[in-house]
Amino acid sequence: MNIVVIGSTNIDMIAQVPHLPQAGETVIGGTFSQAYGGKGANQAVAASRMGGQVTFISCVGDDTFGTEVIQHFQKEGIYTDFVFKEKNVATGIALIMVDEKGTNSIAVASGANERLSPQHIDQARQVLEEADIVLLQLEIPLATVIYAIDLAKQMGKKVLLNPAPAQRLPKSLLSKVDILIPNEIEAEMLTGIRFEEEIKIVGENLLSLGVETVIITLGEKGCYVIDSQSARQIPAPQVKAIDTTAAGDVFCGTLAVSLAEQRTLIEAVHFANAAAALSVTKVGAQPSAPCKSEIENFLK
Ligand code: ATP
Repeated sequence: MNIVVIGSTNIDMIAQVPHLPQAGETVIGGTFSQAYGGKGANQAVAASRMGGQVTFISCVGDDTFGTEVIQHFQKEGIYTDFVFKEKNVATGIALIMVDEKGTNSIAVASGANERLSPQHIDQARQVLEEADIVLLQLEIPLATVIYAIDLAKQMGKKVLLNPAPAQRLPKSLLSKVDILIPNEIEAEMLTGIRFEEEIKIVGENLLSLGVETVIITLGEKGCYVIDSQSARQIPAPQVKAIDTTAAGDVFCGTLAVSLAEQRTLIEAVHFANAAAALSVTKVGAQPSAPCKSEIENFLK
């Protein structure tokens, strides 16, 4: 199963602080940790742990973080020939402050992620040709997302788009997406319909924009799957949630591999729900992504 993930790489710098500082305030007494992040990287790691042959197309900076994160991807079994090390730019950084109640405040310096261009995608044509599934998100320039999806469709590939972070998207782009995987906020942003409305209306609206299948993730409630034939909610397994960071990323990475393994859509969604539910029982983004055997044992 060849999965090509196109997206962002970040280093998350996390300060656990007594309270979030106001403008101009310095808060001391915090503890620091560093983690690998970025929606693209999280999804690539989740797909690789699921047993996919993953090629990741991304940009990092020519700094020590860039070198370190490429080595990390290689340890995760990800093919990194198309993780481009860009000159004179920093690797993407997310500065995250979390207070004692778990409320966070995040600033992202996208750095090298802003450099991922259609030219980079062209360099990776060969791996796109060999892909079973192409998976993207929106933490890289939209022009690159549009170019990559156009190219993948010309090659007859199945395209999965996780439209995160939330933003409006042109219909011309959405009509080329095979499976769109928004969370509730992203679905609201794409349709302009408040979620208090019936979910079916939101789903049908997204289908009317030309997407073939829509999977709206609903946190602990699982997800809602709709296409032109049917619509149904698929509950997530009940777990004790500790940290939901990157649950959506684990869902998308697992779904991509499950579909490439020729599971039906509904089987693949069950698998993705289980993987994402397992991930919320552990702390961290990438560390919490389960491997295939863990998911299979959990579903027994
Ligand atoms: P994040 O931004 O934290 O990555 P998200 O908002 O993109 O998440 P969610 O809809 O919150 O995505 O969750 C994605 C999937 O994770 C859900 O569809 C579900 O399968 C699983 N999930 C999330 N929270 C829970 C939970 N508390 N219990 C079980 N499963 C969960």
